[in-house]
Amino acid sequence: AQLAGAAEGEQHPVVRVRCLGGTRQLRYRDQRKLKGLWFADDPEAARMLDGQGPDALAVSRDGFGAVLTGRRGGLKAALTDQSLLAGLGNLLADEILWQARLHPSRATSSLTDEEGDVLYGAMRDVLRTSVRAAHVPPRDDWLTGHRDAPGRAPCPRCGTRLSSGRIAGRTTVWCPHCQPAPG
Ligand SMILES: [Zn+2]
Repeated sequence: AQLAGAAEGEQHPVVRVRCLGGTRQLRYRDQRKLKGLWFADDPEAARMLDGQGPDALAVSRDGFGAVLTGRRGGLKAALTDQSLLAGLGNLLADEILWQARLHPSRATSSLTDEEGDVLYGAMRDVLRTSVRAAHVPPRDDWLTGHRDAPGRAPCPRCGTRLSSGRIAGRTTVWCPHCQPAPG
């Protein structure tokens, strides 16, 4: 969120909400397409943020490892669970897993230290690039640039047809060659 003077009239592409009040505006920029905005009439309501995990953009490698350690279930479910890590939506999680070459259904508990390093590095790279671009950029060399193509688009890395399905309750896209199924 950002406070800006009313004189600054230009519309930012990721401003989702503008609140007008007197000579001031409150603009809500939602770069990562998170859950939304609530108005609270009670300071106690701010406690709804208490259940959130650390910000994915700020978490350290050790903090990231601690969040995943002992976690049951798959990687996609873990990355998009806001109570574990705050800030990763569906597109970001798929892009990060594709860049890290990890299947979205891989058991979180099966990650080696080396795979954890690769996943953490991919998360930071994808988040930094996306925040700079103010959205998850549909780059030609990213999964995101191909996931919405009609039919089954080829993986931009290896040319294999991309797979899609529901994983952790969300439409998920992955490359069956680069991200081998667990098993
Ligand atoms: Zn591939």
